[in-house]
Amino acid sequence: MKFMPEPYRIKMVEPIKMTTRTEREEKIKEAGYNLFRLRAEDVYVDTLTDSGTNAMSDAQWSALMRGDEAYAGAKSYYHLVEAAQDIFGYKYIQPVHQGRAAEKVLFPSFLEKGKYAIANLFFDTTRAHVELAGARCLEACCPEAADSQLRAPFKGNMDIAKMEQLIKEKGAENIGMVVMTITNNSAGGQPVSLKNMREVAALCKKYGIHLNIDAARYAENAMFVKLREKECRDMSVKEITREFFKLADTFTMSAKKDTIVNMGGLIGVRDADAPYILKIKANCISYEGFYTYGGLNGRDLEALAVGLYEGIDENWLRYRLGTMEYIGERLDEYGIPYQSPAGGHGIFLDAAKFYPQIPYYEFPGQVLAIELYKECGLRGCDIGSYMIGNDPDTGKQLQSVNEFTRLAIPRRVYTQSHYDMVIEAINEVWKKRETIRHGYKITWEPPILRHFQAELTPVKE
Ligand SMILES: *Cc1c(COP(=O)(O)O)cnc(C)c1O
Repeated sequence: MKFMPEPYRIKMVEPIKMTTRTEREEKIKEAGYNLFRLRAEDVYVDTLTDSGTNAMSDAQWSALMRGDEAYAGAKSYYHLVEAAQDIFGYKYIQPVHQGRAAEKVLFPSFLEKGKYAIANLFFDTTRAHVELAGARCLEACCPEAADSQLRAPFKGNMDIAKMEQLIKEKGAENIGMVVMTITNNSAGGQPVSLKNMREVAALCKKYGIHLNIDAARYAENAMFVKLREKECRDMSVKEITREFFKLADTFTMSAKKDTIVNMGGLIGVRDADAPYILKIKANCISYEGFYTYGGLNGRDLEALAVGLYEGIDENWLRYRLGTMEYIGERLDEYGIPYQSPAGGHGIFLDAAKFYPQIPYYEFPGQVLAIELYKECGLRGCDIGSYMIGNDPDTGKQLQSVNEFTRLAIPRRVYTQSHYDMVIEAINEVWKKRETIRHGYKITWEPPILRHFQAELTPVKE
């Protein structure tokens, strides 16, 4: 496959540092073998996350200058609300400082001790906010997602039968909400089909359960739907987005992903008269700031309003998905296993297939991330047992369905030659996979979201 050329050109550059392998071995050791604890300047290509690492456009940088910094009722707030209402068709739009703030502000209206939330898979902070509200997480991802080599078009889907079984098992009155994550981040940035979304919405209606979209990658998901779901072939990404969102009651969004800004988040409520809007405003004022700025600068609201439209530009999205497909096909040529077909925001290497000799409690995804950093200064992260952590009730290490090392690609930041370098480095690590005999153990961890902060050490030096 040919690399799809970038639909933009470069106006400003940021130099990056080159390091040697010896330096990197020292740096990662000093960082307690936790890639979140590295200094970013010691990284050559940073694919730790695509969250807030995007490059803004000239239009967005100029929008910053128009930011209205009024405490209440700023023009920029109204620009943002109009853009979000136009794209999602929701009546109430609440800006917040990032995705987890949206979760923190919204979830307590639906979740408390004794309740459950069901998702096609929870993102890590989403899981944390369900648990912080006192509730527990249940997951019903389609079985296709567990097999990285099975090329199904919608591996992010909810398993409808399992979802209904969970509702019956726990009692519909105990299910506080259903969360549809689009794209399904933990499954490898895999899309959810409109058909599946309709089925989930129908079940929620049948049992009277609140349906929330975790909407960080709504645009990538809509583009996949356009390319893969026959019914939607002739619809625009915006039309598909409208169809999707009208099926749910609310959305929580990290705007640091598909809306191509560096900071921001949104809550959307479909109905203008939903009673919990009052609670959203009250929580927002307590935790984030007055509800017309939600913890953001006026200029951030303005750049986000522009980014909402840039994010659904179809030439951009074709390039975006094309990049992942290119990397995926080059990995195929080397026989390197990853969650395939490639997802929307990154490549999820199947670390369990790199290192079948390493058990889940020695964190194969983390091992591979460390090896890639040592090899070429590439920073990725574990999306596996290391990330999932311990059962909140028993404290026992959970086993993840997949052991991925995620390379999340920042938007509009790197070029084809960076990706080509990354592909060659992955192949070098792949060729040496049998020489790695042991993984890592945790020497210190905090009780929640431990992967960001924990310290590790090799099981055997
Ligand atoms: C990033 C992300 C979040 C959390 O958003 P932040 O902006 O990082 O707080 C929630 N859900 C999904 C699916 C995400 O990708």
